[in-house]
Amino acid sequence: MERKTNKIKRIRGYALAMVFAGLIIMYLGVFFREITWLFGLFILLGFIPMVLSVIIYFWVGIISARVITVECPNCERPTRILGRVDYCYFCKEPLTIDKELEGEEFNLDYNVQHRRDKFVAEKKQKEDQ
Ligand SMILES: [Zn+2]
Repeated sequence: MERKTNKIKRIRGYALAMVFAGLIIMYLGVFFREITWLFGLFILLGFIPMVLSVIIYFWVGIISARVITVECPNCERPTRILGRVDYCYFCKEPLTIDKELEGEEFNLDYNVQHRRDKFVAEKKQKEDQ
């Protein structure tokens, strides 16, 4: 099942987890410091997730620039929405910026353009009948 969290929060969580993974791997390398190549290998392996996490943090910074800030109707705090549908950063209230999807059952599929279009088309068809 998909975890109900704000996307930016989740991405940051992954980046942080990677920093810790890198640290743990490097720390394990200390046990093998007598064997130079093995020690080096652990440091190198620990370094990879750290570099990745830096890239992720950087990427979050870029995507944050095109994120829309709205006031959450539930907890009344400003929260950032990434994509068409997202959860509130604070209270996990499902939010949408798409008028066509308002009041519909929450689904992260709506962030995919063709799935969203298909859904809206089907909805319109039902309304016409
Ligand atoms: Zn909220």
